[in-house]
Amino acid sequence: MKVVKFGGTSVASAQQIKKVFQIVTDDPNRKIVVVSAPGKRSKGDTKVTDLLITCGENYLNYGNGKEAYQLVVKRYSEIAQELGLTEVIVDRIAADLQEILHGDRSNSESFMDAVKASGEDNNAKLIAAYFQSRGVETHYVNPKEAGLFVTDEPGCAQVLPESYNNLRKLRDRSGILILPGFFGYSKEGRIVTFSRGGSDITGSILASAVRADVYENFTDVDAVYSVNPSFVHNPKEIREITYKEMRELSYGGFGVFHDEALIPAFRAGVSVNIKNTNNPSHPGTKIVHNRENENGPVVGIASDTGFCNIYVNKYLMNREVGFGRKLLHILEDFQLSYEHTPSGIDDISVILRQNQLDRTMEQEVVERIKSELHADEVHIEHDLAMIMIVGVGMRQMVGTMSRAASAFSKSGVNILMINQGSSEVSMMFGVKESDEKKAVQALYEEFFD
Ligand code: ASP
Repeated sequence: MKVVKFGGTSVASAQQIKKVFQIVTDDPNRKIVVVSAPGKRSKGDTKVTDLLITCGENYLNYGNGKEAYQLVVKRYSEIAQELGLTEVIVDRIAADLQEILHGDRSNSESFMDAVKASGEDNNAKLIAAYFQSRGVETHYVNPKEAGLFVTDEPGCAQVLPESYNNLRKLRDRSGILILPGFFGYSKEGRIVTFSRGGSDITGSILASAVRADVYENFTDVDAVYSVNPSFVHNPKEIREITYKEMRELSYGGFGVFHDEALIPAFRAGVSVNIKNTNNPSHPGTKIVHNRENENGPVVGIASDTGFCNIYVNKYLMNREVGFGRKLLHILEDFQLSYEHTPSGIDDISVILRQNQLDRTMEQEVVERIKSELHADEVHIEHDLAMIMIVGVGMRQMVGTMSRAASAFSKSGVNILMINQGSSEVSMMFGVKESDEKKAVQALYEEFFD
């Protein structure tokens, strides 16, 4: 059995949904289908999820979000019309959304989750109706009915372990099952969404629960590329990659697959195949336990911007037991999540996403570190990019760091910090945001050209 997930661009229009129908019905093993909300049809388009966020926020703030609401309904209406479905389905979608928008708004986060989740939920209903209209036995399955229970953490739910046993029963159902991605239900019955892009997570949970032979994740590119194609023209496609490498790359800024979606598939030993809805015969990228190493130490280069560095210096920091804990405790008090902590003898850097702090919070953090830890120097550097080179081959090969460093040096990029995890699967380099592209290009040239 295969679990198949289609991302936003794969279900953005009637034309795309017809491709989905073809792909699913071409292979009788494709039994469980997870869908996103309609995504972008072209570059300047807006995803239904983003329209829903605007709509929900307007209802919360002004008690009205009619404009965005109408745009959402129009998107479904256009799709339904082109698929030859009756207006009844659109009326149901409109009524469902109205009910949510006029429902309980006392908990704004839960309200927003319900509004957001309606994007996938209504799309799943619509796509199931289209499959049925083509004479194929198909059932829409609601995550609550299937038993997909999650923690009550709005916008960042985590699956509860008992869900796997519940979902396993889907194996016994007949026909094609279409489920909405992106959300589950709390034990109290509230809708809770995963983080953005979370339909990948739903697909992975389902693939793991039903012990699928493969989890096929359909998107709009032929494969995962070894580097961001907007930095390097026509980059090398990745044929095979391990779970660990993919997790590092997704986390480091690769947008193709959600970094939290790997764990369920990995634990159940289900391989993942990333494929293109617009070119389904292309083999795509396989995520596996072990792979043949064909390309030296590095399989991919990821990069992301928007980081800052809290730099702390104190003479004899090396001898002070508990310094790191106290520092991180201060960050915890501000609910700040950090990414890396490269350190020296008398100094430590904490790298975090800068959108978590405003100027006032920054000042407070700096003040507390200075006064409570008696630091000699504390300052925050902004607008940093983190660049990550990833590959299991690094473990066996000598000289990867030296090659990377000489690539930086040749391109005139100053490395601000370096971090290598003990797993030896990735190396992270911090540079100024303005140097990101140049640095990535230099690394690509060194390891791939
Ligand atoms: N529609 C949701 C989002 O845009 C979830 C998904 O597509 O995976 O984040």
